[in-house]
Amino acid sequence: MQTGLILLYLTIGMSTNTYSISKTSFIKFEQCSKAFFLYKNYPYLRDKLSIDKQITFKRGHDVGLLAQQLFPGGIDVSRDLKNLPEVAEATQKLISEAAPVIYEATFIYKETLIMVDILVLENGVYNAYEVKSSIKVSDTYYKDACLQYYVLKNSLNNFDDLFLVTINPDYVLEDELDVKKLFRKRSVKKRAEENIAYFDHRVSEALMVLEQNTIPNTPIGKQCFKPYQCDFFGTCWKDLVTENSVLNLPQVDRGLLFDWFSSGIKTISQLNDDLIEKENVKKIKNAILTNSEIRDAERINHFISKITEPVASMDMEIWNPAVPQLKGTKPFEQIPFLVCFYDGNTRYFFTDQQTDKRKEFGEKLIEFSKDYKTILVYDKTMEVAVINTLIQLYPELKPELDILKTKMLDVFELFLNLSYYHPGFGSNVSLKVVSATLLNDVAYSKINSGLEAMAYYGQYRISENELERSTIFQDLVDYCSTDTEATFKLARFLQK
Ligand code: SF4
Repeated sequence: MQTGLILLYLTIGMSTNTYSISKTSFIKFEQCSKAFFLYKNYPYLRDKLSIDKQITFKRGHDVGLLAQQLFPGGIDVSRDLKNLPEVAEATQKLISEAAPVIYEATFIYKETLIMVDILVLENGVYNAYEVKSSIKVSDTYYKDACLQYYVLKNSLNNFDDLFLVTINPDYVLEDELDVKKLFRKRSVKKRAEENIAYFDHRVSEALMVLEQNTIPNTPIGKQCFKPYQCDFFGTCWKDLVTENSVLNLPQVDRGLLFDWFSSGIKTISQLNDDLIEKENVKKIKNAILTNSEIRDAERINHFISKITEPVASMDMEIWNPAVPQLKGTKPFEQIPFLVCFYDGNTRYFFTDQQTDKRKEFGEKLIEFSKDYKTILVYDKTMEVAVINTLIQLYPELKPELDILKTKMLDVFELFLNLSYYHPGFGSNVSLKVVSATLLNDVAYSKINSGLEAMAYYGQYRISENELERSTIFQDLVDYCSTDTEATFKLARFLQK
């Protein structure tokens, strides 16, 4: 018998051509049956996709394409077909022909459709490779891999194993990218085999939810945030959670907040002080109810006494590509590309890092900082990490970079430890929220987060359109300098 015919014989028990559950909808079902039902029947109620999520999806897509180089020359079965059942049929045809490598191989079993990033014929059996653009393997990754395994096991008789392909954190880029060393794989066979019955049962339950055809009456709860903030947050929460909702009380464990909420304590004013353990939470509750600020004069004065003129604020932007781009760097390593100093005027240093400019970056930090006795920052964690890496790479810069570190004063700590609190902060003391509440002359324009800045910088580096590059460059500088201006003015606000 020819190989193709053997495989045709082996791939019995094939799919039906309809499906009700996808991997994405199944993961939603695991989070909340209501989210699953809404996703299937009222997808237009989903919240707008945040920029951060869009960036994460794009990164996943790019890394997925790169991982195809692990098994080059495959056929992308989904490329010219829009209808997924058709893709599933085309997959079966390719399998019957013993196609050695198939990208986006698609299978349907028990009305559940899955798409495998890479399917490879190895020693007469098919192995599936599911690519994740991260270093760690979360429970959700295992869950979606085990669902795929369950479908494959039931729809492809010569299927052997499914491997999760993740990024190897120890990989260091040399002259050329080595895709084989960049990725590492781990089998999910043992875990998936142990959970076959679980997935069969859960798929049946999910199908039943669809059959019943009524929106499940699931109350809001901790599941709205786990493992991700639910897409239907806006729909479910909008009428239930008012501005003074007890669920908006900061610094309280989410489980406790939902206990209060489900016991009938819906607003902060209904919450008795006896139920609150932490003094800080009592203070915040009082500040919200009386619309007044919290000011710890002693701590604020102590902070201000540490400011020595001349003073400037500083902010850095970093880029941490999943796939290293600079020789000698690792996946997700923080590469600084922009630093701004503000003392009433802005000074900055920007590099496109086409070649490694980290030493120049360190030298600019020293040059800019030497004019000041105090350097204000807002959450110094990242800045300190970058400086420490620069010290490791260029020990000759250590003495002056150490001095820079001693000059740094973190404005964020005052807001974090409640030395100053304004009800307008709610539970968020990020620089954007705090400055929007307290300052009326600082405004962000296009870029609104460090993650967005990274995505724009990635685009800047690959763009060949000069107009686009200069627009992105200006947006990045505006964003970074607005952060420094806000930090500087917050310190002045506290001084007043
Ligand atoms: S917001 Fe919460 S309750 Fe509503 S669908 Fe999502 S997880 Fe379920």
